[in-house]
Amino acid sequence: MAKNVVVIGGGIMGLSSAYYLQKSGHQVVVLDKSEMNGGASYVNAGYLTPSHIVPLAAPGMMAKGLKYMFNSSSPFYLKPRFDRDFLKWAWYFHRSSTRQKVERAIPVIARINVLSKALYEEMHQSGDLGNFQLEKKGLLMLFKSEESGAEELEVMKRVQGLGLEAKAVDKVELRELQPGLNSDIQGGIHYLCDAHTTPTQLMERFKSFLPQAGVEIHTGTTVTGFNSNGNTLTGVHTTKGFFEADEIVMASGAWSPLLSKKLGVNLPLQAGKGYRIDVDRPTPVRIPAILMEAKVAITPMDGFTRLAGTMEFSGINHHIRKNRVEAIARLTEQYYDAFKIEPAELQSAACGLRPVTPDGLPYIGRVGSWKNLCLATGHAMMGWSLGPVTGKLITEIISGDKPSMEMTAFHPERRF
Ligand SMILES: Cc1cc2nc3c(=O)[nH]c(=O)nc-3n(C[C@H](O)[C@H](O)[C@H](O)COP(=O)(O)OP(=O)(O)OC[C@H]3O[C@@H](n4cnc5c(N)ncnc54)[C@H](O)[C@@H]3O)c2cc1C
Repeated sequence: MAKNVVVIGGGIMGLSSAYYLQKSGHQVVVLDKSEMNGGASYVNAGYLTPSHIVPLAAPGMMAKGLKYMFNSSSPFYLKPRFDRDFLKWAWYFHRSSTRQKVERAIPVIARINVLSKALYEEMHQSGDLGNFQLEKKGLLMLFKSEESGAEELEVMKRVQGLGLEAKAVDKVELRELQPGLNSDIQGGIHYLCDAHTTPTQLMERFKSFLPQAGVEIHTGTTVTGFNSNGNTLTGVHTTKGFFEADEIVMASGAWSPLLSKKLGVNLPLQAGKGYRIDVDRPTPVRIPAILMEAKVAITPMDGFTRLAGTMEFSGINHHIRKNRVEAIARLTEQYYDAFKIEPAELQSAACGLRPVTPDGLPYIGRVGSWKNLCLATGHAMMGWSLGPVTGKLITEIISGDKPSMEMTAFHPERRF
């Protein structure tokens, strides 16, 4: 049965949900407080990463965070603060960072990533969104130290064990694959199972396709509250009036807990800020790479090169820490010869907020207290990869169809 669905948030989660909901015959309205031209879904590195099987909440991560706590130019930064929600989240993160929980999460992460990559391919083939960049050159993990190399080799074996294509490449092979690398780089792991895209391009395509297909998109429209009848939500109040709804999808990224609180739903989730620097001229970068020690991602996008990095837990703000942006640029220059980032490129750096759950798994699905509310958030570092599958799963729930995968691990009210 066709339903009126209000989607709160026009990032990759909101637009992917709108795409599949519309295809299933629902009437969809997307509301976003911004002009939908910035934030996490625009600044990300564009990777589709079935290879990223280890969740952020892994053994040793909390210790790293504490070590870096007072260094605001480090790649992983926890700003010290006595905020109750943050402290609770940090405690849940700590509890989730056990080997046993990570082992349980790995096959689930791999499965949802593989499904989503296939949906990206299907979307590409459908032609709905035009001929957007979807390149299958894989992803290189480049390392300078033996320690990083050994660590990644272990991950590679796990990835291969899950049936995904990956191989170790030595110094010589590496230089054939990616000329212009610094001689300090000892080797790499090539995850051939991964792919990449240009996020700004795809978001623009969604924004032109969806209204043509009948989806209403309202920018500059902040959702401020909800109307309900018993345990059924009947619509949302916004700065531009009231929108009636049979179903509501909360795809509001790092802001989701602020909205869910209004419905009595407690959602442990923190904003993990990341930065991007775009280089709009020829560069040596041919294959997407993660510079392991620097923790920088570098992507040859359609017409430009993007550097992306940092996971900064400092609350909801878009303050650009110049020292961090500078560190991303200077560290990148140490991996490629003849690659200098210009001051103007640093000046135009932008940031976005990843919605990060304590256990590194997203919140996808219904909550107990409301019959017609679905959550689609908390995808942290994998949100770009997992947009399509999340949209598909949300659509299956709302349509009453059998979900494409087992979803218990994504339950929004799971215990940590
Ligand atoms: C630097 C960086 C690099 C990354 N690289 C990758 C990568 O290579 N691969 C990958 O898979 N992932 C990557 N990610 C993660 C990915 O970008 C995010 O997980 C994803 O974009 C989150 O999408 P979202 O739709 O949940 O949130 P958002 O894109 O933040 O969208 C949420 C939207 O909700 C709107 N909103 C919030 N509150 C309200 C309200 N009350 N009313 C109306 N609208 C509201 C906001 O304005 C916003 O537009 C990266 C992230 C960053 C920052």
